[in-house]
Amino acid sequence: MTLTTHILVATAVSKPFFDADPALIFTVAVASHYLSDAIPHWDWHLHSVDEDLSENYNHRLIPDKALIFRDLARVALDIALGSALVLMLIQPHFTLQELLPICIAIIGGILPDSLQPVFWIWKQKNPFRWVKKFHSFMHSRILLGRHLWKDARYVWAGKISQVVLILISVWFIRV
Ligand SMILES: [Zn+2]
Repeated sequence: MTLTTHILVATAVSKPFFDADPALIFTVAVASHYLSDAIPHWDWHLHSVDEDLSENYNHRLIPDKALIFRDLARVALDIALGSALVLMLIQPHFTLQELLPICIAIIGGILPDSLQPVFWIWKQKNPFRWVKKFHSFMHSRILLGRHLWKDARYVWAGKISQVVLILISVWFIRV
């Protein structure tokens, strides 16, 4: 799922708690990531990752600086787009009190995916493998745009499901 979608969903579900404890905002935002990953979706492909589409999801990072740099730029753009949309929708005052909950929601919403590269690089004796296992467990097995679902109509279905999720989130952020 794109990070823009994750950011909007995380903001929508954690917004009712913006006045509460930051730990609660963070927990709700992280939980929203895992729950929305359970919805079959399309995702843009990271060119610097050699994907293992078996049950193990044993991805490997391709040590090519140009590819990694290009992917990092796209990731940054994805995060910037989601964050800009959130700021446009909420229109907060630029005070710590109003910006902090938004930042916590954004960070919580993208954290599980931000941790993924750790598992592509650190494979042996990684004590946090349960984090990756939980992510894979929660993630929909239907990867629209990959292996069995490469057909254009599946890609479209995956993109539309994300647009719908974004629109619902925008509505919740605005109310
Ligand atoms: Zn994820």
